[in-house]
Amino acid sequence: MTLKRGCRALITGGAGFIGSHLAEFLLARGDRVSVIDDLSTGAIANIEHLKTEARFRYTIDSIFNESLLAEQVDDADVVFHLAAAVGVRLIVEKPTHTIETNIRGTEMVLRAAAKKGRRVFVASTSEVYGKSAAVPFREDADLVLGPTSKSRWSYAASKAVDEFLALAYHKERGLPVVIARLFNTVGPRQTGRYGMVIPRFVEQALAGGPITVFGDGRQTRCFAWVGDVVRGIAALADQPAAAGQVFNLGATREISILALARLIAARVGGRIPIRKIPYDRAYEEGFEDMRRRVPSIARARKAIGYRPTVDIDEILDRVIAHARDASRMA
Ligand code: UDP
Repeated sequence: MTLKRGCRALITGGAGFIGSHLAEFLLARGDRVSVIDDLSTGAIANIEHLKTEARFRYTIDSIFNESLLAEQVDDADVVFHLAAAVGVRLIVEKPTHTIETNIRGTEMVLRAAAKKGRRVFVASTSEVYGKSAAVPFREDADLVLGPTSKSRWSYAASKAVDEFLALAYHKERGLPVVIARLFNTVGPRQTGRYGMVIPRFVEQALAGGPITVFGDGRQTRCFAWVGDVVRGIAALADQPAAAGQVFNLGATREISILALARLIAARVGGRIPIRKIPYDRAYEEGFEDMRRRVPSIARARKAIGYRPTVDIDEILDRVIAHARDASRMA
């Protein structure tokens, strides 16, 4: 059954970067939105502008508060589970927190949703493809993770467990759950505090530099506009045939990190130096990065007509304009 407009959506992690954009999108199309967030990496500022909406409410608490979670899930028609430990810097610095939050959190949400038979969307990540070189990554491809001694991979492994668990709930209990692996999603309100490259480069460029490129800068990523990604998330949750499946959501235009640094420097203007920093110094001894990360979006295109609509130049202009506005208001 396709959900009707005006449905009740619960977003865990709804005060985070992607969660707050999803809340905005769902409210704009007429849904009622409830957010639960412990503000560990999210921020009240992200949802400040939504507080006046009659169809919006928020609770600052942890999804580990079981009775509260049960109540909120009970009140919802669909649950978007976005609460997670994210950001390479955070993961490397706090691996225990990452593993526990991601595995236990998803387990609790799935269990609560299964009790009530609620529809669930689970946010996963392109990190699960790990060091695979089989680009573009297809959802049914092998996952290639590094050793457990390198904490970076704990994020991918914890999200892979989340996926296994969600699919198991679908298989054994018939839970209508859909999973999306989000690829480098960017836009206004994303913070650089936990390592994300675009907000960091933009902030560095606006301060006159240097822009810090890790490694040789030849590693590539595809950056997706957050508005495109949240539209994809909502469409997947709406599509009954998508239940029990995993989908990549992202953009397909590949750009090297060095080229990204140059593009941001040029768009901000002025003479902004770019400095290369070895990975060992940027993160930790023996840090492993992915060289290329490109999604195949054929499955999402077929299921929901998903396609990216905003290219990297436009994304950067919007992020830079937003960062300039924010620093003027500060
Ligand atoms: N990166 C960088 N400088 C920074 C932050 C990140 O060169 O200040 C690089 C990082 O090593 C990676 C890419 O930018 O190769 C994307 O990093 P991000 O953490 O945004 O996402 P990832 O794709 O690694 O999850």
